[in-house]
Amino acid sequence: METLTVDLCVIGAGAGGLTVAAGASQLGAKTVLIEAGEMGGDCLNYGCVPSKALLAAAHAAKAMRDGARFGLANGPAEAVDFRRVHDHVRGVIEAIAPQDSGERFEGLGVRVIRAAARFTGPRELQAGEIRLRARRFVIATGSRPAVPPIPGLDRVPYHTNETIFGLTDLPEHLLVIGGGPIGCELAQAYRRLGARVTILEAANLLPKDDPEPVDLLRRRLRSEGVDLYEQARVTAVENAAGGGIVAHVEQGGDRKAIAGSTLLVAAGRRPTVKGLNLEAAGVAYTERDGIAVDHRLRTTNRRIYAVGDVTGRHRFTHMAAYEAGIVIRNALFRLPAKIDDRAVPWVTFTDPELAHVGLTEAQARTRAGRGGIRVLRWPFAENDRAQAERATDGFVKAVTTPRGRILGATIVGARAGELIHLWALAIGQDLKIGAIANMIAPYPTLGEASKRAAGSFYMPALFSERTRRLVRFLGLFG
Ligand SMILES: Cc1cc2nc3c(=O)[nH]c(=O)nc-3n(C[C@H](O)[C@H](O)[C@H](O)COP(=O)(O)OP(=O)(O)OC[C@H]3O[C@@H](n4cnc5c(N)ncnc54)[C@H](O)[C@@H]3O)c2cc1C
Repeated sequence: METLTVDLCVIGAGAGGLTVAAGASQLGAKTVLIEAGEMGGDCLNYGCVPSKALLAAAHAAKAMRDGARFGLANGPAEAVDFRRVHDHVRGVIEAIAPQDSGERFEGLGVRVIRAAARFTGPRELQAGEIRLRARRFVIATGSRPAVPPIPGLDRVPYHTNETIFGLTDLPEHLLVIGGGPIGCELAQAYRRLGARVTILEAANLLPKDDPEPVDLLRRRLRSEGVDLYEQARVTAVENAAGGGIVAHVEQGGDRKAIAGSTLLVAAGRRPTVKGLNLEAAGVAYTERDGIAVDHRLRTTNRRIYAVGDVTGRHRFTHMAAYEAGIVIRNALFRLPAKIDDRAVPWVTFTDPELAHVGLTEAQARTRAGRGGIRVLRWPFAENDRAQAERATDGFVKAVTTPRGRILGATIVGARAGELIHLWALAIGQDLKIGAIANMIAPYPTLGEASKRAAGSFYMPALFSERTRRLVRFLGLFG
């Protein structure tokens, strides 16, 4: 058995682990990166990348069918060749994979070990045939799909995000358990590619988002033919007599049996803590919420940090990467860098896209108390670029203090994921609403909707009787 002693040992080569390992080794730390599965983790192999590639194909299929809006002939509905769509998705993964590969990281000076890591003490672990001691450890083992305790689920075939992108045939009728971001994105993608799709959601669609933009998305999904059941509890699933799956659903006292050909479980995530033997390392965790960390991302063992999905804080690639930066500053530079959660953005990549940063209106109201808040809005229907592109379904909504400090923003509509950047910057940098209102925005762009929403902050004061009187008075001086 080989024994290694290094400065930094990173467990998990997904978004968080890769960022820590690349940074640490380029800063001169002797670094080991341990990966039990595929390099690149969930995002590259079973998450962001394949889902966005599938959605791109789905949106293209929809655009072909919808040519008439622009005075073009509509393309045929049967133009989708699902096997080639699958190959396109694989091709995108393969195009990005070299960035995350073992070879690239070895080239950066990282020792990459392809094995499962298991702690054997507070300062050591074992990975395959290697025993390893390190000055600091970073746990970045991510999350896995949660499997809800639905009677019968263990006796029917079902997909999760780890298997669904391997399908080479279009499902005839996809039943999706879960109406969170993953469920919504995949439901729309499969529907636009020609499958029948039913979403079964125990609460409401996208429960973490502001209900106002979610409603717009809900209406769009329904208008495209997605069957959507909310407040619907799946009480059991079973194999159907003629093949396929039957889901038994209870909704507001009604019971229904819904048959489909293929089942996708997208009912949340669980942190990957199993097999790490965290007890030996003195790292506190729970199976549900993951590894407990402080504001510097230190675990209960001060030499061990945790980043990304395994902490259960935020489950986004960009947050794993952000947290990696905080850990590098703490672990290598010994700077007391703290996480700042004021400007955490997220996007659901449906059409329309739904993007959010900072506080929702409801959160802002609760925190503001008697001081109150201002809610600013601008509809895409009053944006010339949205009109030109026939993408008028959408709006910008921002929440500020009465004095114009920006607390949060939500955008639903075309390219909302790009438009939210401005608001993430503004909140992160403590800019006031005037900074956005006074910005010169190029015409015609969707981004003008953000400027107009910000400008609406001043409208009540600007167009008040008092201002009119002032203008009339100044007019007296020639
Ligand atoms: C379908 C889907 C779509 C998504 N879309 C988006 C999106 O559009 N935007 C976004 O920001 N986020 C998205 N996410 C979330 C994003 O994928 C995760 O937040 C991100 O991958 C988390 O990175 P991570 O480094 O924490 O973990 P991961 O990327 O999961 O990496 C963890 C790695 O650790 C390895 N590992 C686990 N245990 C061990 C062990 N004991 N020893 C060694 N290795 C181990 C695993 O094999 C894995 O490779 C999506 C997720 C899914 C499922």
